[in-house]
Amino acid sequence: MANIFSTKIEFLKGVGPVKAELLQKQLNIFTYGDLLQHYPFRYEDRSKLQKIREINEEMQFVQVKGHITKIQKIGKRLVVHIEDKTGTLELVWFQGINFIEKKIKTGQEYLVYGKPNYFGRSFNVVHPELELWSDDKQLSGFLQPVYNVTDKLRTHFIDSKFFFNAQKTIIEQVKTQIPETLPDYLSQKYRLVSKANALHWIHIPENEHQLKEATRRLKFEELFYVQLKLVSENRNHKSKFSGFVFNKLPLLQKFYKEIIPFDLTNAQKKVLKEIREDVTKGYQMNRLLQGDVGSGKTMVAFISMLMAVDNETQACIMAPTEILAEQHFQGLGEYCEKLGLQLELLTGSTKVAKRRQIHEDLESGQLKIIIGTHALLEDKVKFKKLGICVIDEQHRFGVAQRAKLWKKNEDIHPHILVMTATPIPRTLAMTVYGDLDVSVIDELPPGRKPIQTSSKTDAQRLVVLGFVKEQIKLGRQAYFVYPLIEESETTDMKDLMDGLESITRYYPEYGVSILHGRMKPTDKEYEMKRFVKGETKIMVATTVIEVGVNVPNASVMVIENAERFGLAQLHQLRGRVGRGAEKSYCILMHKDRISKDSKIRLQTMCDTTDGFKIADVDLQLRGPGDMAGTKQSGVLDLLIANLAQDQEIIKEARFCAQSIIDKDPTFELAENSNIRRHLSSLKTTSTNWSRIS
Ligand code: ADP
Ligand code: MG
Repeated sequence: MANIFSTKIEFLKGVGPVKAELLQKQLNIFTYGDLLQHYPFRYEDRSKLQKIREINEEMQFVQVKGHITKIQKIGKRLVVHIEDKTGTLELVWFQGINFIEKKIKTGQEYLVYGKPNYFGRSFNVVHPELELWSDDKQLSGFLQPVYNVTDKLRTHFIDSKFFFNAQKTIIEQVKTQIPETLPDYLSQKYRLVSKANALHWIHIPENEHQLKEATRRLKFEELFYVQLKLVSENRNHKSKFSGFVFNKLPLLQKFYKEIIPFDLTNAQKKVLKEIREDVTKGYQMNRLLQGDVGSGKTMVAFISMLMAVDNETQACIMAPTEILAEQHFQGLGEYCEKLGLQLELLTGSTKVAKRRQIHEDLESGQLKIIIGTHALLEDKVKFKKLGICVIDEQHRFGVAQRAKLWKKNEDIHPHILVMTATPIPRTLAMTVYGDLDVSVIDELPPGRKPIQTSSKTDAQRLVVLGFVKEQIKLGRQAYFVYPLIEESETTDMKDLMDGLESITRYYPEYGVSILHGRMKPTDKEYEMKRFVKGETKIMVATTVIEVGVNVPNASVMVIENAERFGLAQLHQLRGRVGRGAEKSYCILMHKDRISKDSKIRLQTMCDTTDGFKIADVDLQLRGPGDMAGTKQSGVLDLLIANLAQDQEIIKEARFCAQSIIDKDPTFELAENSNIRRHLSSLKTTSTNWSRIS
């Protein structure tokens, strides 16, 4: 029997070929199944009428019934008065005026729905919904679904009402034939309603309870199948790609015994244990290491690299900028020297002769550890046997680049460790980086002084400048950061240069460095070095300093126009201070009037330094689509679930997917027959599968 879901939409009563084609073109709706999965995005109370006199500023939407008393064209607007027994309300159109004018008549009774705007003393409603009223009509329900439609559809009378009626018709037709998609034991365990009820209630809820249960069930199902796919891909990957086994550790032992300058934190130990397990199993490691700024990821990377070198393979670490590569080169150089290991740096500015030498040494295998930038990705860079590749600050590298690194060895792919200081909630990481295992360093090394963060308006600038001066007198250094300079943003450039000038004027006695993206690499390096050495006390910069730069003596960071930065970026920037022994400060300068979201961002920064808490707020504010690294990932194209709000369900779904795949990886057991059937229908039918693949 053909699956009822794959019935073509034009066969539905009230649709027909013209509407069917529009639905296909505009919303990708081809079949009954597609239509049923076009879920409402919210629900409105259409069961009540308001009296015009009762409309107030608190109301999001109003529904009134009345007679039209006046129709007037004023300039490019159409202004219509509608009157009930209590008063008059103005309705306004800016578009489609002719169409509306033809449609309405004075003296007739209409039902009007829309968002009221307060104007001086009265209210108006712009572009309201309007329906001719007659006494045989009924008001809609209090949970009337609202569907996504395009303008084009609306002009063909395909609106929320159309969808509501179409869904009703389908459900009546197919309700008894809707196949269950989850195994019974899962539905029982999580008290999920049946698929048939869920589809019914999501479109036609009679009460809040039905709506809630339908939503939970459908979210669970969606996330469960996403996780099932991710988990099984991850397992396949592991069994498909063999990896180097690192079981010898002479250098590492020497390093632990004689060289490492501090005790590892428990979090570092825990993560290293996870890495060690990965690299001794014989499968290729693909691990994401999340750790807040300053949590000591570099040390974890270095120790992992030593594991590779101890086992006759090579190791590389790739940084997103030259400054960062340079810093790793200096920091790790010390350890390498003590271990008797050669260490080289390969970036865009490495001289030709040196570069040639490095290429040779990597290919012969003589050089064991290399630090670099994107330059490492070039085809010319060949390794004898690359055992591990560490990618620092992941969000600047795409998936494609990761793949390029994989291919540096013909036979066995190197182990890959991706490090990021842009924490994203673990549940999101599980989904977005489904192909990576995730480790978290959730503890900072001991003795860090908390960073005191405050936000100040431009009116308080003099006080701030005075405070910075005091700090410099105490021997510290300060950053002044300006919003990013894009190639085109001349106003940003001007802001930065004005800032530089006024700072130089205010602090004539101190040297001031400058750093921005348009400078030549040699100039950047020169300025950076002066600041690192303490020759300059102040660094005026754009966000190029965001990632990883380490100057422990810098204890003050002033961020200009902080309202323009995202939370992740503010957090990264703040991480540049608080690295030394002194108490550190972060001052967020902002305009007097800022948006509500900006206020929340700045307040969050003042309230906490915990990167994961900040990431959570960020996720709530922006939604997952804009989070670092999520763009490339197709899994965010969800129909009903929301990665920001449904973290609990993601966890449950992940857990279920894992335990089912552990027990029954190909879904052969009778208890999993629903899964098997659903997966095969997803594959054969539609759009759907591509949505989650
Ligand atoms: P991030 O995770 O931001 O890359 P880093 O690796 O740069 O952090 O480490 C920040 C600082 O903390 C470095 O100066 C590093 O030497 C130091 N550090 C790392 N681990 C420890 C530890 N276990 N105890 C004390 N200091 C540590
Ligand atoms: Mg780092």
